[in-house]
Amino acid sequence: MVPVADLPAYLSPSSASSFDGCPRRWKSKYVDRLPEPSGEAALVGSFAHLVLEHLCQLQGPERTLDSAKTLARALWEGFEADEDYRSLELDADASRAFRWNAWQCIAGLWTLEDPAHVEVVSTEEKVRTTLGEVPFVGIIDRVDQVNDELVVTDYKSGTLPGIRWRDDKIQQVLLYAAALYEETGEMPRSARLIYLKQSIVDIPVTQVKLDEAVSQLSESWQTLGEACGSDTFDAKPGVLCGWCPFADRCPEGRAELTRREAAGKLPAHAPARSLVA
Ligand code: SF4
Repeated sequence: MVPVADLPAYLSPSSASSFDGCPRRWKSKYVDRLPEPSGEAALVGSFAHLVLEHLCQLQGPERTLDSAKTLARALWEGFEADEDYRSLELDADASRAFRWNAWQCIAGLWTLEDPAHVEVVSTEEKVRTTLGEVPFVGIIDRVDQVNDELVVTDYKSGTLPGIRWRDDKIQQVLLYAAALYEETGEMPRSARLIYLKQSIVDIPVTQVKLDEAVSQLSESWQTLGEACGSDTFDAKPGVLCGWCPFADRCPEGRAELTRREAAGKLPAHAPARSLVA
């Protein structure tokens, strides 16, 4: 029996999503605490988030593209010195491409809304509460006020996923809305996913949707508790094995990669492809 201490102190939306996606992968990260490199795409998103966080702390009229450029230049020095970025070992051309990709995300915001006219309540707001019986912690990218009601916003630097994967992102932002409701007593009017290079997914918040999101979180928490109690973390092989940093130590994942490679279903850019090359 694994000590109860292995049960996490709380769930975040990303931790719950990780467990639902593959309990074995969750264990590698959250129990075994194996390093999980961020990857270039995730770091592009981190830099864009950082610039937009600082931008939205300015007064409305100051939130211009020029201000964003100035902030990006000022913040880059610290970002490129960070260990996560340095571990990418990008040469000068690749570094330029990295910054260009991040800038496409940042500038994309102006094609979707004018940040100068957004009434920002907070950025990077940490919410710590209990949802159902689940201890919950999350960080909300941005909380706005629209006509005296709150709006929860989560930035996304990737492309808008298909319906199957979109549900997972919607669940996450609804949990932020539920947590904010729990903390403030005010039900947000909507939860938004801003796909910076593409479009806004706006989800009107209702009690029914919040209850469904919390109920799903509770199910994950219960299943996770059982997995910790029995020290049984099943592998859930699938398309994401191609992007799993722990695939090299997972027989089921390696078998999945081999099967997908043979079927021509393993994308050339999947990082774990090297394991079957
Ligand atoms: S390789 Fe696949 S099955 Fe194995 S831990 Fe990673 S995601 Fe799960």
